[in-house]
Amino acid sequence: MPVPQSVRVDEKYRDLLLTVDSGADIPPDWQDTPIAALIMAQNFGWPIQASGKAELLIATCIEFRHALPVPRMYAYVIRRASGRVIGSEFSVGYTLAQGVKYLVLIGHNDCGMSKVKETAPLVVDAFVDQGWSRAAAEEYVHKHATRHAIGDELDALRDEYQRLRMIFPKLEIAPLFVCLHDSRLYIPKWFLDIEKPDHSNYPANVSAEIIADLP
Ligand SMILES: [Zn+2]
Repeated sequence: MPVPQSVRVDEKYRDLLLTVDSGADIPPDWQDTPIAALIMAQNFGWPIQASGKAELLIATCIEFRHALPVPRMYAYVIRRASGRVIGSEFSVGYTLAQGVKYLVLIGHNDCGMSKVKETAPLVVDAFVDQGWSRAAAEEYVHKHATRHAIGDELDALRDEYQRLRMIFPKLEIAPLFVCLHDSRLYIPKWFLDIEKPDHSNYPANVSAEIIADLP
């Protein structure tokens, strides 16, 4: 699987991302938080000092071309295809119970989940190779490919960010985008235009319907 070109030159992404070329480019709300520490580690190789307690929850794709720069005793990590945590809300709640106050949600370019339709027949073959009947494999893959598929990676990141904001309104969530070319983190431009929650005075009244609809 080839490494894609940098998002800085890829027309699909280059005008939709903000670069972080120094610590000053990190939004004020994230300064002096584990979010900033992760960005500085990923973009500039700054070492993260583990405090011995869980500082951060990182949710990102299963993508093997992206490695996280975190030491042990620092972060919980949820890695799922596309990086969305839908279906893992219990895991988020568990980390909150352990004291986590920050979630970094990382999307990336060239995500396989944006091409699931093309790869679905190969996934069916993989299940058949494991001994599944072709009919069962096709039914399963059809159901889950639909659930896992995303369209545009940046749009999917925004949708998941907004969905999680509704479910975890007091959690500081940082949507980031990693470039598989060089592992640098970017901030989606749409994040600037989104109204930010006031964590000190947020009406923590999550709709029962939203909770009942969680998978
Ligand atoms: Zn991916």
